[in-house]
Amino acid sequence: MNYISFGVITVHFRSVKELIHEAEKRSIKLSAVIKEMEVEVQEYSLEQIEQRMLEQWYVMKESAHIGLKEPKKSMGGLIGGEGKKLNEYRRGTKTLAGQEINKAVSRALAVAEVNASMGKIVAAPTAGSCGILPGVLLTVQEEFNIPDKEIVDALFTASGLGIIIAQRASISGAEGGCQAECGAAAAMAAAALVEVRGGSPAQAGHACAIALKNVLGLVCDPVAGLVEVPCAKRNALGASLALVVADMALAGIESVIPVDEVIISMGEVGRALPESLRETAQGGLANTPTGKELNEKFLRKCVCQS
Ligand code: SF4
Repeated sequence: MNYISFGVITVHFRSVKELIHEAEKRSIKLSAVIKEMEVEVQEYSLEQIEQRMLEQWYVMKESAHIGLKEPKKSMGGLIGGEGKKLNEYRRGTKTLAGQEINKAVSRALAVAEVNASMGKIVAAPTAGSCGILPGVLLTVQEEFNIPDKEIVDALFTASGLGIIIAQRASISGAEGGCQAECGAAAAMAAAALVEVRGGSPAQAGHACAIALKNVLGLVCDPVAGLVEVPCAKRNALGASLALVVADMALAGIESVIPVDEVIISMGEVGRALPESLRETAQGGLANTPTGKELNEKFLRKCVCQS
């Protein structure tokens, strides 16, 4: 698989609270704190770190563009073209969820399809959840005419929160279910959106918390063990969730449970999930009659091709 990860980021804050406190104390953005940390820990200058993130942003943009323009069938043949389908549908009608959400969702689907057809994406935080950040950030960039530089900053904010989620809970479906992949991506994206729209660090924390609260317990149950079904459509869920909770946080709605407690709770819920619901393709949708049939079909196809 051809993907780039956010692995350059090595934030050493142990909690979102500490991160927010540092930003508020100095009246700077979360992204500024995270970039400072990076410069301190990595052997790169600020310009080099920003340049590397900008390159990842370009890969994100390209994956969304290709996925919408030239969709391909996925390796397992279970998905392909859904992003383009939604994009064309929303262009020709007044949609129920609104244009922005549908634009973001079509892009999220498109990037997930590129991943499932072995195209180049940015794992954000994982390949399975790669559509959420590009889906929402591209849409918001277009709607509000935001320069790449600010989007790159927002990606640092997303990455910093992603690292804390990874340290204190998980960003792996095999360890913590899909809440840890698409859930974490939605939470990271929500915080990034708040920063991009001028919200405070505390509001970004609330957006992150509210997003995670809404996916607690979401299982990882990929049909035939492929990152196709339900993965691509969970990217759609994550993109719409991120947009909605970012607006909630920007409106001043707060999470009653503090963000760090939500993250710890997510880790506990993940560890409590049975093995069958942690990427083993043994439970949930993978264990439905159709899921099992598709698994058999895929295995037969593999045998024939070998
Ligand atoms: S269902 Fe599992 S494999 Fe698919 S995106 Fe979610 S965590 Fe990843």
